[in-house]
Amino acid sequence: MAELRIPFFRPAIDDDDIAAVAETLRSGWLTSGPNVREFERELAAACGAPFVNAVNSCTAALHLCLRAWDIGPGDEVIVPAYTFSATATVVVHTGARPVLVDVRERDANLDPAAFERAITPRTKAVIPVHFAGEPCDMDAILAIARPRGIRVLEDAAHAIGAAYRGRPIGSIGDATAFSFYATKNITTGEGGALATADQALSDRVRVLTLHGMTKDAWNRYDAGGSWRYDIVEFGFKDNLTDLAAALGRRQLAKLDRLTEARTRIAMRYVANLRDEPLLTLPAFDEANRHAWHLFMVRVDNQRSPVQRDDVIRRLAERGIGTSVHFIPLHYHTAYRKLGYQPGDFPVSERIFDGAISLPMFPAMTDADVDFVCENLRDILRTAA
Ligand SMILES: *Cc1c(COP(=O)(O)O)cnc(C)c1O
Repeated sequence: MAELRIPFFRPAIDDDDIAAVAETLRSGWLTSGPNVREFERELAAACGAPFVNAVNSCTAALHLCLRAWDIGPGDEVIVPAYTFSATATVVVHTGARPVLVDVRERDANLDPAAFERAITPRTKAVIPVHFAGEPCDMDAILAIARPRGIRVLEDAAHAIGAAYRGRPIGSIGDATAFSFYATKNITTGEGGALATADQALSDRVRVLTLHGMTKDAWNRYDAGGSWRYDIVEFGFKDNLTDLAAALGRRQLAKLDRLTEARTRIAMRYVANLRDEPLLTLPAFDEANRHAWHLFMVRVDNQRSPVQRDDVIRRLAERGIGTSVHFIPLHYHTAYRKLGYQPGDFPVSERIFDGAISLPMFPAMTDADVDFVCENLRDILRTAA
């Protein structure tokens, strides 16, 4: 396909990002080392968490956290049906069962009432997803989870830089997983992190991240380091490289500026589209700080002469890239094998039916946003 005039996403990579990676290549230290340790320290300061473990994906951060909590066969973990598959796949890989629940119509975030109804004596944890960067109702979720001893692991793949009622995402639940995947708000190409106030959790995750080696084994190649190490349990290979962390540190230094750019774009979309009767715009709570990872509109398929799939196709014909977040988990083949089926989560299905994520990346100009909006309005007015 010809290059799009406005792609769905373009990473924000500047000369200083490139220089930081080149400098790391020249330093001779490529895998986890000083940049990873500094990145962890800087992330901890940014998200208000005392301990941060940098790993090679958000998926790994979620998985290692559940493992470190000894969640496994016979246990249940509650997950919204409206998320990316990784949120639930990690539960399956521990041997526990992901229990899907529906989301709220207003913001596609975990519905606290649905969470409460799904609790059984086997429920060990819940994984709220801050959809699009809008924080979940954490007070309600914690009020349900805490008295029952249910752990709260936030999937903040969309939400670095967000805040819930003045508290940064990363400082609220028992642990929080971030993603630095190529399309996320800040990127290391591939990467992720787990933030927590629980030092024992962070220590165990560090051991599990690198083969189950004693936690001081990272310095075994340093002067003064020792070749001797012990494997204390069967771990994984989920560490972040120093190359990636060098990029992550530059990206993190720009997080506020990148979030401001996303907010500017989101507010311009709102101003341009708020009177469009065939669209529902994303709801957001003024008391929170939204990370605006996505700007998702919903097409009213009942009233619109043009259906969602055709809107996407016709936007692409006009050089505008979009995406859909997400195909509800219970629509996928693998989840049907867990016993879920279409019809199970009506709110997720309604949201999905009309969902279009519009282009959203910090380098978008006001004219780009206006171009997307004019074309979207025009397409909605003209039946195929
Ligand atoms: C991107 C994403 C993930 C996975 O992140 P990786 O870093 O690619 O593992 C998990 N959950 C949600 C909601 C995501 O959007």
